[in-house]
Formats: sequence, structure tokens, C-alpha cells
Amino acid sequence: MYADRINALPPYLFATIDELKAAKREQNINIIDFSIGDPDQPTPEHIVEAMHDAVLDPSTHQYPSYKGMPSFREAVAKWYKKRFGVKLYSEDEVLTLIGSKEGIVHLPLAFINPGDIALVPDPAYPVYRIGTMLADGTPHTMPLLAKNGFKPDLNSIDAKIAKKAKLMFLNYPNNPTAAIADENFFKEVVDFASDNDIIVCHDNAYSEVAYDGYKAPSLLQIKGAMDIGIEFHSLSKTYNMTGWRLGFAVGNAEVLAGLGKVKTNVDSGVFNAVQMAGIAALKGPQGCVNKMRAIYRERRDVLVRGLNTLGMSVEVPKATFYVWAPVPRGYDSLDFSRLLLDKAGVVATPGIGFGDYGEGYLRFALTEPVERIKEAVGRIRELEI
Ligand SMILES: *Cc1c(COP(=O)(O)O)cnc(C)c1O
Repeated sequence: MYADRINALPPYLFATIDELKAAKREQNINIIDFSIGDPDQPTPEHIVEAMHDAVLDPSTHQYPSYKGMPSFREAVAKWYKKRFGVKLYSEDEVLTLIGSKEGIVHLPLAFINPGDIALVPDPAYPVYRIGTMLADGTPHTMPLLAKNGFKPDLNSIDAKIAKKAKLMFLNYPNNPTAAIADENFFKEVVDFASDNDIIVCHDNAYSEVAYDGYKAPSLLQIKGAMDIGIEFHSLSKTYNMTGWRLGFAVGNAEVLAGLGKVKTNVDSGVFNAVQMAGIAALKGPQGCVNKMRAIYRERRDVLVRGLNTLGMSVEVPKATFYVWAPVPRGYDSLDFSRLLLDKAGVVATPGIGFGDYGEGYLRFALTEPVERIKEAVGRIRELEI
């Protein structure tokens, strides 16, 4: 019944965990859930108010423009200049998206012919691989290994594959490993992409979720990056706006035009009122972003310290709201997450769900409050692993 491209999609690996979770909830067991990569805090009030005002204005009720409102794209360009020192021409170097996931999954349709190669990291946000497959492309795995700081080893990519590849997906600060990349790595990426004529798609969704003074760079800060790539961005994590569906892509105008052409034929843009709320977010007071960071930082410290007192060896992430924890010896990621859920009522995502190279790890999202994190650590302690 289904098309080959749907049948070819990887199986949903979280199904068993989801079933167990539902069963526990049915037994009224209080689950502490670290598996949800969705901020638990509300959208800041001034953004909600901007939306409220915009919704009452009938001029927002019609079809939006395909590329996004000029005023939203200008706000993005201003924010990029201020935050990264990157100058963007808002007319054709900024494209509004219905959340960055939408842009990521549609991009391959503009550049991949059947059988063309896209270089995708593993473990990773599943959308890079799946977007490639939905465009009948062939994902080529770039393993993210601990010994390389969870960055792909570009030198180990077969020269023939590199020459054939059309796209490369990257994501730093990284989901799920919480790894970060510095400008030297991005320089290597730009050189590699120029040499091999590859379009780089850097997903920077977590640039603002960073701690201890760390400031994540933009790929576009690197000389030559505007020639070879684009960056995806989202208001979802920075402003607790996952439900609003607002993101954007910036960078090379020709690449964005390709993505824009697909989108013109698929969707009709983002509700103008949502874009106006986005303007309020980008241009308004940024104290809410500091508050968000402080909340996750405290949770991070409690969880990392807690897991390490249990004998796990977990590193303190500098960015993202994830903790990437190696599973204890003798378990694989699915076994161990099942054990935590079954015996402690604690849910963390098995690394294998993010790709083969995620095996051996669990991802904890810092979307539970401190008291619940302490409770979870206590429950895991009782398992005496
Ligand atoms: C959450 C997330 C996004 C953001 O998705 P939106 O569609 O903008 O909500 C993008 N990339 C990664 C890696 C994420 O974890």
C-alpha cells in the first residue's frame, strides 16, 4: 500500500519505550521523563502579548508571503549582525520557515536527484537522514565519535563519496551529544565543501542554549561560508516557542532560492501574527534568554553531579539542554533505558534511537525541574547498578 520511500524509513525505535511508559502511567506510577526535547517553561509574556495584539489585527488574517514578512526577515538580519557579526541581506539571504524542521526536511527536494548522496552525522536529529530519504537520496553516515569530540572526521570520508555528495548536514551545539564546534572546525568544513562542491546545511537551533559564558559560533562567521552553505535557526529553543512553529534559514541566496521554490509549492508561509511575535522575541528584551539558561544550568549541574555520584562518567555540557551519558558496562542503550523505566520510573532516550553510533549512550533532556531530577537520581541509586 505504501510507497517504497515510506517503507524504506527506519523503524520507530522508541515504540517499546513509549509502550512501557504508557503502561506505567496506567498503573499510576509517577514517571520522571527526561526523554522530551521540548522546553517545559512557557513562552515569555511579552512575546505572547505581541501575538495577542497581532491576532486582533485583521491585516494578519490573510495569506502571508511565501518568503516571510520583510519586517521579520529584517529582524532576523539585525539579530544575526548583533549576535554573530554576520551581515545578511534580508531580501534574499533570509527565508522564514514553519519551524526549522520544515526547512530541513524540504531542502533535499531542491538539490537531491534519486541516488544522490547527502553526508549525514550519526548520532543525529533524525530529520537530516529522513529528509534525504524522502527525496530518494542516499544518506552517507559520518560517525560522530567521542574520541573526535563528536565531530565528523572529514579526512576519513572516501574521496569518491565526497566528490559525489551534494549536501552535508551538521549541527553544533549538537543534539543529542551536546558537543560544540569551534571556528577551526567550521574552517575545515568550508574548505572541504569548497573542494568538493558540497552545500553545507548547519543546524544552529541551540546556539543560545549555552552556559558558563560559552558563545556558540555561526558557520556563516567563517570566510567563504556564504558561498557554500546555509544555516538553519529556530525560535523554538531560544524563546520556548516550539508550539508556535517559527524558524528561518539564512546564508547563500541561491541555495535559499532552491528551498524557497520547493516551499512555494508546498506551503503558504507562516501566519503573520506568529512572525510578529517572532519580531518581538528577536528585538525585545533578552532577559528571558538568560533566565532560560540559568534554569537549565542549575538542572544540568544537579543531574550531572547526581549521575556521576552513581559511578557514571558524564561530562558537563557547555551547551544544549541535553546530557549525553555513557551507559554502564554490560548494558546496551535500549536495555539500560528499559531498566530505568521499569525499575525506577525514569525515562531517558536510548542513544540507538539517534543512529547506530548513538549506541552505548542515553540522552537526558533537562526538561524536568530540579526537585524531580534529585528524585530521579535517588531512584536510580536504589537500583545499585
Ligand atoms: C529542536 C530542534 C530543532 C528545532 O526544530 P523546530 O522545527 O524549529 O521546532 C532543530 N534541530 C534540532 C537538532 C533540534 O533539536
